[in-house]
Amino acid sequence: MEDMTKTFSFELNFLWELSEKLASNSDSQDLLNALKIVFEKYFNANNFRIFIKDENTSTLRDFVKNWIVIDKNQQQEDVDKIFNVLKKHLKTGFILNSKLINFDTKQNLVSIFSKNLKDENNLIYFPVANENKLIGVVELAFNDSSENIKTKAFLEALRIAMSQIGFVVVNKVLNQYLCVNIKFQNVMKSIAKLIENQFELDYILPIIGELIDSFISEHLIYIFTKDSNDSYKLFWPLDCQDKNVLELLKKMNDKKAYVLSKDHKTGVFAIRNDEKTLGVIAASSNIDKLSKTDIDYLLQLSAQASITTQRANSYAEVLKFATLDALTGLNNRRQFEIRLKQEVANAKRNNKSLCCIMLDIDYFKKVNDTWGHSAGDCVLKSVSKIIAHELREYDIASRYGGEEFCILLPDTKIREAVFVAQRLRKAVEASDINISEDQLLGLDTLKVTISVGVSEFDKTMDVPEKLHQSADVALYEAKHRGRNCVVVYDESLE
Ligand code: GH3
Ligand code: MG
Ligand code: MG
Repeated sequence: MEDMTKTFSFELNFLWELSEKLASNSDSQDLLNALKIVFEKYFNANNFRIFIKDENTSTLRDFVKNWIVIDKNQQQEDVDKIFNVLKKHLKTGFILNSKLINFDTKQNLVSIFSKNLKDENNLIYFPVANENKLIGVVELAFNDSSENIKTKAFLEALRIAMSQIGFVVVNKVLNQYLCVNIKFQNVMKSIAKLIENQFELDYILPIIGELIDSFISEHLIYIFTKDSNDSYKLFWPLDCQDKNVLELLKKMNDKKAYVLSKDHKTGVFAIRNDEKTLGVIAASSNIDKLSKTDIDYLLQLSAQASITTQRANSYAEVLKFATLDALTGLNNRRQFEIRLKQEVANAKRNNKSLCCIMLDIDYFKKVNDTWGHSAGDCVLKSVSKIIAHELREYDIASRYGGEEFCILLPDTKIREAVFVAQRLRKAVEASDINISEDQLLGLDTLKVTISVGVSEFDKTMDVPEKLHQSADVALYEAKHRGRNCVVVYDESLE
């Protein structure tokens, strides 16, 4: 009698503690660790894992590892087999050391337990179900020292525990799907929004690549564009060694929206305008198949990329005739090159001095990576404003490209130019740059610095570009000296 009470309270305690852990709103990893501890405490279990089957990819995923596919040598095939057996005995069975056990036929149960208790490790697999559908399995490993494993109450408690765990896991899985969908909508929006400030494909396509790559996490993403001979050239990232992708590209033509490899692990999706394919987004993995959902996502993403690309191209057409940079309102690079020639000619003719300042924002990539590209754009706009504000009316400021600016200072000697450069550097360093969505509230601010190179025109310079190149050499040296500083060009720097 005393024994019974002990067992009874033991099982109850176990279930009580378990439901407490399940009710705490922790993330997958924390929940799993908590469950591990409970099973270790009550049953001497030395391992506890949950595998979730993702119907779309038919791969098994370890619940803890947040959807990372368990690698092949982690007995994927065994778990696959177990999964298939449990599918047919959802309500009635579980697996102990590769044998299916029926919950209700107790004799069977006992005999198998006593036989297998001699094994060093007892592995139990329980089904995790959502209504009548198996969505995963729980794996429990026991030491043979576990006494409790023999009791019927133990099994009943486990059965209740599993249905409770199943309920929580199902909710977590559904929630995860929901999160994926929200993330997808955000990626679509980001691709659409790229065009608000930018129209250069050199800038846009790598961002599209990064966005899709971070969303389609199990597959590597590549972007190819078509060159004038209609052959595909890798555009992003820098390298593609994937033979499957390169092979598949040969099968792509203007009529197709996408092509998949035979094993469905690789796919290419068209970036196109009304008439033809302009490029492709390729997705490839040597482990995972592209699921129906992945393909659907990629089709929508490439359609969005197509719209953005087309609009960028038509903007670029229009802006061929523009003189100003669309994002910052400063002169664009083409205009800079025209003004450089004019100012050099002026300086020569009138025997006037002329200086050039090149500046580049320090660690700008980090700003984009940490705060996002629209924050990066805010920084570019703010730095441009500071530049415009610090200069005289007849100085000529241009956005040379990316986060590089070029300033021509007519009728200015090098000492004054250095003074201007230092003033700019300090002004940027001192300002709090507003990157919040709500520009009026200005809740989020950050700080950046610039590196600056300065050069002065002299008559030995054979071409106007030499003035700009010299400032660039000095800028390079400023980066080399640790950034946030001004360096004056000197022949010894070459
Ligand atoms: P360093 O201090 O050496 O200059 O490092 P850095 O990170 O500033 O330099 P890097 O040249 O590696 O990175 C420049 C980044 O600027 C990469 C590119 O994505 C980003 N960029 C270029 N044009 C734009 C733009 O118009 N908007 C935004 N947000 N980012 C841009
Ligand atoms: Mg930089
Ligand atoms: Mg740069």
